[in-house]
Amino acid sequence: MRIDDLPVRDELKGKSPYGAPQLDVPVLLNTNENPYPLPEPLVARIAERVAEAARHLNRYPDRDAVELREGLAAYLTGSTGFPVTRAQVWAANGSNEVLQQLLQTFGGPGRTALGFAPTYQMHDLISRGTGTGWSQGPRNDDFTIDLDAALAAIAEQRPDVLFVCSPNNPTGTAVPRATVLALYEAAQAVKPTLVIVDEAYIEFSHQPSLLPLLEGRPLLVVTRTMSKAFGAAGLRLGYLAADPAVVDAVQLVRLPYHLSAVTQATALAALEFTDTLLGYVERLKAERDRIVAELRAMGLDVTDSDANFVQFGTFPDTRVMWQAILDKGVLVRDNGVPGRLRVTAGTPAENDAFLDAVRTSLKELP
Ligand code: PMP
Repeated sequence: MRIDDLPVRDELKGKSPYGAPQLDVPVLLNTNENPYPLPEPLVARIAERVAEAARHLNRYPDRDAVELREGLAAYLTGSTGFPVTRAQVWAANGSNEVLQQLLQTFGGPGRTALGFAPTYQMHDLISRGTGTGWSQGPRNDDFTIDLDAALAAIAEQRPDVLFVCSPNNPTGTAVPRATVLALYEAAQAVKPTLVIVDEAYIEFSHQPSLLPLLEGRPLLVVTRTMSKAFGAAGLRLGYLAADPAVVDAVQLVRLPYHLSAVTQATALAALEFTDTLLGYVERLKAERDRIVAELRAMGLDVTDSDANFVQFGTFPDTRVMWQAILDKGVLVRDNGVPGRLRVTAGTPAENDAFLDAVRTSLKELP
């Protein structure tokens, strides 16, 4: 039996599960993880907080994750200067689960979502997985959103959910505030549309967060994650900020007790170390800028990046270049963007290994 022999839903037929290869290679720069392990004092604090949680594991966790949402709201307020309250924040197991809950609530059969490709593939997959139709608008040659084409797509597709990924994965492109405002207004002029601004990488951006746009826009949602800037991809903690009514609405689809007591305790410990963790972000931003400059100095076409990764090209055969870099012990990502590959900013030593691998590969290949 294969998947397609089973009576799976039509929209899942012929699809592949999302996920980059998990290969055993010395330098892993393919999934936009933070290369710095959590500092030992934080590891100790997690152990303490989890031990305390373990004493109550016979009970279900706080279903509303009150203390954690309070902490996340304080982080958002402190880092953006825009006041956010616990009632505006919701958390789940990774921002992927947050997105899924939003699509379950505001998408679904008979409804559609619109995004601007190339973009984060899970926007498409989560839409389809929740029975939501998916359509996509184009980008300009420099991977910024083509506003005229976007407005035309909104008028034509009449989406119920609109995805704006800023900074965008896999291109690294930040979306200007004015573009988001124009998209929001245009979408609302057609019908009430949930506009999701996916800010998974915002802490690495040269641009400020779009969070203040929440003011007066009840159908705007900003999603965030602790997987990147907080260096805690293994924790699985994502969150959103929106009008409190949106938070109330996702309660209709969230599974009861979806966020374990262990997860909540660990995330709270990580929040106590916000300043230390954001210090690593500064290092990664500098390394990201160095990667951009060095790849450009090699004569490559490098997309401006506001994230912890860099899109570079162009190659006549991305598969051949990807393999040439891999043969030198460095794993990067082929996202299917024609002619281009993506590398995550790692430690200075990892980035040196990557840059050397590219330099050598460019000499080897015709
Ligand atoms: N949004 C974007 C744009 C991403 O690139 C990712 C992770 N690759 C996510 C959301 C999901 O991250 P997580 O579920 O780990 O929070």
